Amino acid sequence: MRPYILAETNWKALKNTEFELAILPWGATEAHNYHLPYATDNIESDYIAAESAKIAWNKGAKVIVLPTIPFGVNTGQSDIYLDMNLNPSTQFAILSDIIETLNRQGVYKLLIFNSHGGNNWKSIIRELGLKYPNIFICFSNWFQSVDRNKYFENPGDHADEMETSLLLYLKPDLVLPKEEWGDGKERKNRIKAFSEGWVWTERKWSQISEDTGVGNPKAATKEKGEKYFKAVTEKMSNLFYEISKADIQNLYK
Ligand SMILES: [Zn+2]
Repeated sequence: MRPYILAETNWKALKNTEFELAILPWGATEAHNYHLPYATDNIESDYIAAESAKIAWNKGAKVIVLPTIPFGVNTGQSDIYLDMNLNPSTQFAILSDIIETLNRQGVYKLLIFNSHGGNNWKSIIRELGLKYPNIFICFSNWFQSVDRNKYFENPGDHADEMETSLLLYLKPDLVLPKEEWGDGKERKNRIKAFSEGWVWTERKWSQISEDTGVGNPKAATKEKGEKYFKAVTEKMSNLFYEISKADIQNLYK
């Protein structure tokens, strides 16, 4: 029983505990190239959040990891079989209820531990922050926390070398043999500005990728996954610790 994982702990332990920070992992259920499981984003957030919380807990941070929300915004993958979609307004409603509970119970800091690129939090946090002024709400993208170029050769953002390496390390039994991996080739928008990042439209996934991957996974290894996992969890655990101990009325120097 890990005391910082809500799904594992119990009333006997909790009735006399006060937590400083709740961590809410939020993933997605969607195709990940041919070879990775639909739960890839959930597996990543489960393992990374738990390990980061363990390191922070051992340093004295009172953190509690809530169960992972397994569905994310998949509006751009509506024609990919059994990619599950939660609309942003549904995400807002779920988060609102969770924050109401935390507010009532006196846990005044929440980190949304985001694991899926389609989940966007800023506008939701702005609105809920106004509604619940006592609660400090923030989100992180673990996949942006360390410079991935130090660990991986090929760029990508979905079922790529990074995600394949992580799954080879965390859940090798759920990764198909290498012969089955697609090349994750992405078709770029004909209008160049979209590749420059200053204009955005949702990518229609079935039109930009044959195998649903974006980024070539071929150079992925378990060893790369392990090194990257350690770097990300080390950095994330620092964040957990710092938010736990921070005075949210006195954040700025
Ligand atoms: Zn993913």
